Amino acid sequence: MNIILLGPPGAGKGTQARRLVEARGMIQLSTGDMLREARTSGTEMGDLVADVMDRGDLVTDDIVIGLIEEKLSGDTGGGFIFDGFPRTLAQADALGALLEKHNTRLDAVIEMQVDDKALVSRITARSTCGSCGEVFNDITNPQPANGKCPNCGASDFRRRADDTEDALKTRLMEYYKKTSPLIGYYYARGELSTVNGLGEMDAVTADIAAILD
Ligand code: AMP
Repeated sequence: MNIILLGPPGAGKGTQARRLVEARGMIQLSTGDMLREARTSGTEMGDLVADVMDRGDLVTDDIVIGLIEEKLSGDTGGGFIFDGFPRTLAQADALGALLEKHNTRLDAVIEMQVDDKALVSRITARSTCGSCGEVFNDITNPQPANGKCPNCGASDFRRRADDTEDALKTRLMEYYKKTSPLIGYYYARGELSTVNGLGEMDAVTADIAAILD
């Protein structure tokens, strides 16, 4: 089963994707994670995209489509969760063509709806475990006082360089200009489902499971 999690930054796509990986053995393909990895490993491509990402702009279609293309040729596991990809109509067309080439298809596109006010407070309070990706929130789910991640025990909490109010404004603008047209694109193809991303994490997980089952 292959699905897209679609929604603005901070909608909870990464959190829900990780739960699907655990529950269903699916493979999370987050272009944001792949780009951050390219940056920390100091590849030429990583250097090229660093400023663009920190500003909150989108990197070019060619780069992210290339990243996804590489992954589709590898292990398919219990199917793919596309997280943060596609973000433009050109990327959506490319994904369709790539899936067809691999004799597979999209089973669902799940839009996670949240309002902008919630996004700003979620993102500016966000930190993650650098080891396992567990997400924390300064107010609703703070990092434990003993300084160890409750999921994996590591002590490597990080904040993203683009989780600032300024970069978030750009990221939201990019989302509305370039990514939100995908809602209509997938709706017209009969592939779109919507969940309320503002609910409790477990409730959102249950809503997504109901769509997939
Ligand atoms: P994310 O972790 O999904 O919030 O992505 C972080 C940043 O990586 C974005 O603000 C973009 O600069 C870049 N990025 C991630 N995925 C894409 C994509 N599909 N297309 C273009 N840029 C992307």
